[in-house]
Amino acid sequence: MAKPKKKWGQNFLRNRGAVEKIVAAVEPEPGDVIVEIGPGEGVLTGKLLELGHPLVALEIDPELTGRLAARFAGLDVRTADALDAPLPEGPYRAVGNLPYNVGTPILRRVIADPNCRRAVFMLQKEVADRLVAKPGTEQYGYLTLYGQVFAEARILMRLGPKSFYPPPRVDSAVVVLDPLAQPRTTDREGLLELISTSFRMRRKKLINNLIGWRGLTRADILPVLTAAGVDPDIRAEQLSLAEVEGVRSCLFPFPTIGRVP
Ligand code: SAM
Repeated sequence: MAKPKKKWGQNFLRNRGAVEKIVAAVEPEPGDVIVEIGPGEGVLTGKLLELGHPLVALEIDPELTGRLAARFAGLDVRTADALDAPLPEGPYRAVGNLPYNVGTPILRRVIADPNCRRAVFMLQKEVADRLVAKPGTEQYGYLTLYGQVFAEARILMRLGPKSFYPPPRVDSAVVVLDPLAQPRTTDREGLLELISTSFRMRRKKLINNLIGWRGLTRADILPVLTAAGVDPDIRAEQLSLAEVEGVRSCLFPFPTIGRVP
């Protein structure tokens, strides 16, 4: 066994039941490639191969890729950083016990990719809780809405530190993310920019986060909130995605405050 490297978030899964449950949740359909992110020693890889679909394994640690190639003959394992490695150009399902230090950016990248058909990711529990948070709760914020723009998220299971070697200092959870069948907006970029602006300070009133954005004044924004049916006193942390989308669709048609050409 290789000595676990902290810099790459190497906390290897040691819970057989969890392995079975994660692999079962992938449910690949005909034509789907499976992309495993951070295969480590291969605890998930062996079971994923049994699903009988082409599998691409992206692992940053060259020592581990060497071991995986030796253990699984013919495995397509690449020494690569999942933050920027090419992803398949056709439909795929992503799965992985993600390294906690880069779990959120990897997740954000994968769910925004149009070829992703499902993602099953082990994450730090706090990140998983943010993905499924309800408005008005402490966990609710930018990541919640970012996730909702692309996918439906549900928690498959929660695990304590003892399920890993070495045990991490945090609890973990497995999240299943399914891309939306119908987009929630006609202007994804505009919506993401508005979400980011609206949640600059999540405890602040929405209107105060928006003032100054693209030169907007209080007088510009108040009628937009009324037209969108959004309480002008609402705080960012209480806003639903439907409300942000309502504000966006009222804001962007106005030529003077519309999108920069
Ligand atoms: N899947 C294995 C398991 O469950 O035991 C290992 C999980 S471990 C939490 C995370 C794995 O991701 C490690 O093997 C680590 O080397 C790898 N890793 C870390 N950063 C990475 C990155 N940016 N791209 C690809 N793999 C990465």
